Amino acid sequence: MTSSPSTAFPAERLLLGPGPSPVPQRVLRALGAPTLGHLDPQYLAIMDETCARLREVFRTKNALTFPVSGTGMAGMECIATNLIEPGDEAIVCINGVFGARMKDVIERCGATVHVVEAPWGEVISLEQVKAALAEHPKAKVVTIVHAETSTGVHQSLEGFADAVHAQGALLVVDAVTSLGGHDVRVDDWGIDAIFSGTQKCLSCPPGLAPVSFGERALARMDARKTKVQSWYLDVSMLRKYYLGGGGGGGGRVYHHTAPVNMTYALHEALGIVLEEGLENRIARHEQMHKRLRAGLEAMGISYVPKRSLHTLNCVYIPDGKDDAAARKRLLEEYGIEIGSGLGVMAGKAWRIGLMGHGATLRNVDLLLAALKEILR
Ligand SMILES: *Cc1c(COP(=O)(O)O)cnc(C)c1O
Repeated sequence: MTSSPSTAFPAERLLLGPGPSPVPQRVLRALGAPTLGHLDPQYLAIMDETCARLREVFRTKNALTFPVSGTGMAGMECIATNLIEPGDEAIVCINGVFGARMKDVIERCGATVHVVEAPWGEVISLEQVKAALAEHPKAKVVTIVHAETSTGVHQSLEGFADAVHAQGALLVVDAVTSLGGHDVRVDDWGIDAIFSGTQKCLSCPPGLAPVSFGERALARMDARKTKVQSWYLDVSMLRKYYLGGGGGGGGRVYHHTAPVNMTYALHEALGIVLEEGLENRIARHEQMHKRLRAGLEAMGISYVPKRSLHTLNCVYIPDGKDDAAARKRLLEEYGIEIGSGLGVMAGKAWRIGLMGHGATLRNVDLLLAALKEILR
């Protein structure tokens, strides 16, 4: 046989793009553990502990915290489809690709969307959101991206919940690229619904979308007049499986077959996060970002956002350098993947992820050395 791509032994890459991030051996081993039935008590214990670990990482007491089957986008759709009814109004903050996706998703749920916009690379201000709430007092939700992966902007959420709640709306947050790498405090920050993904700062393969719903969101769902349009993502049914009928393990109702082995992987990945400690992990991401930033700036490379994420570094491609050729050399000669620019940043920016298991001194210095060679 001639050589064809092998699923058993694909090349080992160093994943320093916008996700997926490098997955530790421990997580890959967990993924390969024996598959159990999704109602087996042993599996349910692992699943319950996974949800408990998610609560710790989200820093929440929300009972309804679980991994949606699907990638980060499934988390976004799950929240939108459960909190929005046809005819609702929503305020969507857009300063990059993922805010724009949220608008599309919410419009598909039948809502009218009022957009709060900031230029790409800039944050949304609290004043903008307050003005939009005053102008559209019937808005049921306000959505915002905590870590906009298309521009590398780190959005502050301070004060947002108070403004949103004062108008009786819900605060929905996309924390796909921040959870496990930046401070995310669901309860302290008054977030009503939040979603993330496994393959970014949690360093687990893609496939699950951790979500958490607070009391206000639960009340909104319980007061729905219409059925949730998506059968698969209907939380009123999902909660009977994840939380059980009588609470505390009993009365689980089959909805769909849980992705059993992915749950093992997430369980292990969250175990690693908690062993390191959230504070330590967040500090590590900050240190690695600073080291990378110093190295890039010394090479004359500048950052797109003023307020950069630590987990995702969006930088301008140096003048006169060929975007695709440079990334191809990084991949082929060094086995390093970085991301291209997304949306209006295509051809203008690179996105360098330092997420979870990937945010190490070794990786930062290796990437800087490789870039120096390639850009010489
Ligand atoms: C990656 C990402 C998503 C989508 O996650 P998928 O796992 O690709 O479905 C959503 N929002 C943000 C901010 C992201 O970075």
